[in-house]
Amino acid sequence: MGDYNYPKLHELQGSKVTIYLTPLNQLSDHFYARAKHAIDQITHLVDGYLYTPRGREDHSIYTGYMGLALTHFLIYKKTKNAPSFEIAKKLTDIAITRLSGELVSFLTGDAGPLALGTVLYSLDGNLDRSSELRLWLLQLGQNASTDISCTLIDGWAGYLYALLFVNKHVHDTIPVDIIRKTVTRILMIGVTAAIRKRSSVPLFYEWKGKSYFGPLHGLCGILYMVLCSNVLEETEMYNIVRPTLDYLIDSRSFRGNIPATTYSESDILVQWCHGIPGFVQLFIKASEVVDPSYISYAMEAADVVWNVGLLTKGYTLCHGVAGNAYSFLALFRKTGDRKHLIRATGFIEWCLSYPRFERQEPDRPYSLLKGYTGLLYFFTDVKDVSTTSFPGYEV
Ligand SMILES: [Zn+2]
Repeated sequence: MGDYNYPKLHELQGSKVTIYLTPLNQLSDHFYARAKHAIDQITHLVDGYLYTPRGREDHSIYTGYMGLALTHFLIYKKTKNAPSFEIAKKLTDIAITRLSGELVSFLTGDAGPLALGTVLYSLDGNLDRSSELRLWLLQLGQNASTDISCTLIDGWAGYLYALLFVNKHVHDTIPVDIIRKTVTRILMIGVTAAIRKRSSVPLFYEWKGKSYFGPLHGLCGILYMVLCSNVLEETEMYNIVRPTLDYLIDSRSFRGNIPATTYSESDILVQWCHGIPGFVQLFIKASEVVDPSYISYAMEAADVVWNVGLLTKGYTLCHGVAGNAYSFLALFRKTGDRKHLIRATGFIEWCLSYPRFERQEPDRPYSLLKGYTGLLYFFTDVKDVSTTSFPGYEV
């Protein structure tokens, strides 16, 4: 972990906090103006890349140009900037002509462009096209192969996110029985695998031969999406979900982090994709739908993220400082406790140093989850800290 110079908690409290935050717990005009400056610079950088042949190869939200489409959708939502709406729609239209017909997740599959397209055309008043894309999204789930994983990155949790994304932006347009069917499928796969593996935990999932804990490839992301579905029956909640949540809590290391996989001996990674940061959102949701006491685990997880501090991998959402800031923002939204917003502010301040402390160039530098577009998303999102959400994860 890096030993960078960034505002410490005590420097963000007292009279100095007014440099960063308003009394109403939003970023100060001065602070946001700096974020806006960064937004303008990164927009220029990313837009240039899009017009290269390589920029148009990957249509995923995770690493491709659809990540920029989702970012422009966010810019439109937060600022009502009409050109951003048109850019999002244009990129989504291109992606929809290149779908595989097989990949079901929001982040890396067809469900991302189809879900965003459903929402964009609905907002645009073209309800026929919106309905057409929504049906296409539903058919994608019906026709999918039986050997798809349950993960957020490329499996059924990622498909469930796409359904919930549509319902969030176009109210309750996805029938509840489709959501229920997807949740049943996820639970059935996990319960069947747990029996086969003679696991003491009711749910067991693997991704490419390994059993991961984190949001992107593992149990945290799958459980979080299932809890967000709001269709769980009480017996499932208490006989399947709760013991699995408690297993996750018991799997934490002495310092409160969680290893990348069940086989890992080290807990060195403390980033959204692997490690405890993404569990903050899971434990918050568990406190809302399972038992209020789970909020204490969200607090403990956020303390670990803060104590570990800045990540040497840099600025990204997937495994960088911006992604970890979302843990504090989630806890601030849940509790209203300014401490969490102040912690997020420390990370935002550091992210504004981009690219000064970039120790290693990201392997997909223009992407949403692994590159600069993620910073564009992050800086745009914090314009209103009461409505932030980690893209492709928080519903
Ligand atoms: Zn990552």
